[in-house]
Amino acid sequence: MTSYASSSARAIAAPEASAHLQPSENPFALLGLAPHLVRAVADEGYTQPTPIQSATIPHVLAGRDVLGCAQTGTGKTAAFVLPLLQRLAAAPRAGKHIRLLVLTPTRELAAQIDERVAAYGRHLGVTHTVIFGGVNQHRQEIALARHPDVLVATPGRLLDLMDQRLVRLDGVTQLVLDEADRMLDMGFIRDVRAICAAVPKKRQTLLFSATMPAEVAGLANAMLVDPARVSVTPKQTAATTVSQSVMHVSRDEKRRALVSVLSSPDVVRAIVFTRTKRGANRVTEQLARAGVEAAAIHGNKSQNARERALGDFKSGRARVLVATDVASRGIDVDGVSHVINYELPETPESYVHRIGRTGRAGAEGSAISFCDHEERPLLAQIERLLARRLPVASLAGGDVAMAAPVRALAVDAPAPARERPAPEVPGIARDATSRRRFQARKKARSYVS
Ligand code: AMP
Repeated sequence: MTSYASSSARAIAAPEASAHLQPSENPFALLGLAPHLVRAVADEGYTQPTPIQSATIPHVLAGRDVLGCAQTGTGKTAAFVLPLLQRLAAAPRAGKHIRLLVLTPTRELAAQIDERVAAYGRHLGVTHTVIFGGVNQHRQEIALARHPDVLVATPGRLLDLMDQRLVRLDGVTQLVLDEADRMLDMGFIRDVRAICAAVPKKRQTLLFSATMPAEVAGLANAMLVDPARVSVTPKQTAATTVSQSVMHVSRDEKRRALVSVLSSPDVVRAIVFTRTKRGANRVTEQLARAGVEAAAIHGNKSQNARERALGDFKSGRARVLVATDVASRGIDVDGVSHVINYELPETPESYVHRIGRTGRAGAEGSAISFCDHEERPLLAQIERLLARRLPVASLAGGDVAMAAPVRALAVDAPAPARERPAPEVPGIARDATSRRRFQARKKARSYVS
């Protein structure tokens, strides 16, 4: 997790690197990125900046504060890591200080950002480390004693280490608050304020949030100076490549519906969301009994167990990951074909985060939400946030099969709730007769505007 490059952070953009890159043609170079970073991005296989990257990178390179509205999956990590590393590497290092601090709410997200710092900074020689709670702090102490340039941290553990005087932030010149709305949800906001108070006022600050509730806007006001505002609207985010649908099922039907959905060959890799940790365990056990290999990830699991579950999911050993909202934050696994909301989330913003686990970086994905009677108000909240009704997939005879019909629910044309009722998609045919009936009705009615 922790890695150190041997050379100093001062080594940036050696002239020879530009010889084989053609800045005039490379879209990342056109944004102002130096050859070493352009090379790192090419190593990652990126050919075009994402919208949040195009919007953010020039402002950060110009030294401005940034208030960014973007969710995970839009390429936002590179949007802040690339230009900050460039500025960091260009500035002479005065003493042994942490210079870039990234605060993020979960361990998974912290580990992933640190891994991105390693990847994007691989030709710069920038040193970095990551700290988070839930593990013994000893190795983190050793890593901090080496005075890395970049520290990625979750607020709780960082504050602990600050209290123990094991970390100093008085050399920080760049501060990033990532997923600020989530920090708020998770009760970290006081920790965040305390940490920010320990960082010099003269600094560049970036704040990213998927949503902008009043408290986050207040935090931004207090922390940012004349920020450039960048946002990727929902239309441009990964989420728009996700086909969304809702299935009205009773609580008792959910288990069978889930097994049936997961048995489709279309479901290459799925994340199933539950509201509670107990729910996640229960669903995982039920799936195991039904012969579906699933790994569970939630806050009660030890860090090792979480990493093992994520590892099994990433490697394909487990096709299904059952997760709670908090634990899922920052899960960055490519190729998630389906997100299944076994239970709807309490807050509609979490729905947006959940479905952002699929359809990442422009790939297609499907999100299917099970909604029982009691969850109707939660569904209404989600539809209000999306300003559209979700297409409905219905149970045919209590049996659910994921096939073309639900894929055909890829209705991304916004339909204002009051103007157009949600299309009833009788889906999910069980036998040849009902399939034929479905096709005939599908022909007769156009679901997609
Ligand atoms: P993020 O929103 O930072 O979590 O990034 C989501 C995913 O998009 C990660 O797997 C990145 O590696 C990937 N990514 C970031 N920028 C680009 C890009 N310009 N082109 C292709 N993939 C990208």
